[in-house]
Amino acid sequence: MGNNGNDPVIVVGGGIGGLATALGLAQADKNVQVLEQAPEIGEIGAGIQLAANATNVLQRLGVMDKISEVSVFPKRLVLMDAYTGKELSALDLGEIYKERYGAPYVVLHRSDMQRILLEACEAHPNIEIRTNQQITSTKDNGNSVDVVTASGAIHSGSAVIGADGLWSTTRKQFSDDDPVCSQYVAYRGAIPMEEVTNVGNLDDVYMWIGRNMHVVQYPVRRGELYNQVVVFKSSQYRKEIERTDQWGTPEEMDEVFSNTCEKVKTAISFISRQKRWPMYDRNPIDNWTDGNITLMGDAAHPMLQYLAQGACQALEDASYLTDTVLKHGDDFKSAFLEYQQERLPRTAYVQRSARSWGEIIHTENPTATLLRNVILKQRTEKDFTFIDRYHGYNKAAMEVN
Ligand SMILES: Cc1cc2nc3c(=O)[nH]c(=O)nc-3n(C[C@H](O)[C@H](O)[C@H](O)COP(=O)(O)OP(=O)(O)OC[C@H]3O[C@@H](n4cnc5c(N)ncnc54)[C@H](O)[C@@H]3O)c2cc1C
Repeated sequence: MGNNGNDPVIVVGGGIGGLATALGLAQADKNVQVLEQAPEIGEIGAGIQLAANATNVLQRLGVMDKISEVSVFPKRLVLMDAYTGKELSALDLGEIYKERYGAPYVVLHRSDMQRILLEACEAHPNIEIRTNQQITSTKDNGNSVDVVTASGAIHSGSAVIGADGLWSTTRKQFSDDDPVCSQYVAYRGAIPMEEVTNVGNLDDVYMWIGRNMHVVQYPVRRGELYNQVVVFKSSQYRKEIERTDQWGTPEEMDEVFSNTCEKVKTAISFISRQKRWPMYDRNPIDNWTDGNITLMGDAAHPMLQYLAQGACQALEDASYLTDTVLKHGDDFKSAFLEYQQERLPRTAYVQRSARSWGEIIHTENPTATLLRNVILKQRTEKDFTFIDRYHGYNKAAMEVN
């Protein structure tokens, strides 16, 4: 049975996934209300890589021109040995990439991306964004859905999409699982380009890999800032102290990277030590849809960031949700079921692949390292076989998996 088409679709969470979903649904003629817990919509001061499966969606949403203005279009994605400083493998991200996937690979500052999505939402008459709205529960009444905030306010809508991230409240409706701690932490931040020394080619994205650690570097904001992410496994991690900052400390970071090459050591010396991010994902679940309620983005399928696909997958979700809502009109139940049928296997695959890729790049085993490096060296810069299934998302790519 259909819903009242005038009631808004409620999107819980105004992150990249929530805003992109709001925009897609508004463009499909739905009224949308975004409820965000924070006093302001904003992102952290670090970079983000967006592959073609994401930029294709941004093109569809009509924001790619604005995104391009603040992005950097890197020439290559380069894997480096963190100890020897030697190149292990590279992928061409230039014209050949763009032609193959129909959209470019970009790197940009998260706050720039968030701002562009937010401005597009604010400019759309079908979207209302409300901050300071922490959602505590959701109830499907059959023909309408109620969400309740921490202050006791009730918002009613025709459907609810939980886009509330890794620690999602909406997800509790489908699973009592907890985020899985990887025992890795990240330190990250973007610094003014004038302060940057001892880096490689500024047109490239670098990933330096080594035992239980890696470092990612790339320019953002038209090349005005340089973004760095330092990631390592903490030997001090214990379950009892998981929610404290007693593991993965800056001192441990210095120790882990003490035997790396000079360029990596320089990266470590520039990284902000004030905030650390413990890295979590979750195991895939087999259902995230019930009637007029569904999940998307990290709320549905949080993954480790090693393939740089978390936000890309959230954008794929947003696009696919828009398609199924366009197809089923006000029958959100059918739209959400079809959306889940397509997206669940795909995202579970990417979640698992991110873990496996982490094991490959972080391996401590000398034989595995040797084999990995030999295989990586054999591939050419124009060999896209490995990334086709991620960056070239379409039905055919899904069927391969
Ligand atoms: C170190 C690191 C590097 C990464 N690099 C990349 C990359 O290069 N490329 C890439 O594609 N992905 C990357 N990712 C992953 C990417 O950041 C996430 O997948 C993406 O941000 C998820 O977006 P989201 O909108 O689903 O969730 P979030 O961005 O987490 O947004 C959730 C929103 O919901 C709000 N919220 C939460 N609970 C409630 C509630 N109860 N009520 C109301 N609002 C609520 C939050 O305040 C937040 O605004 C990286 C992740 C990390 C940790």
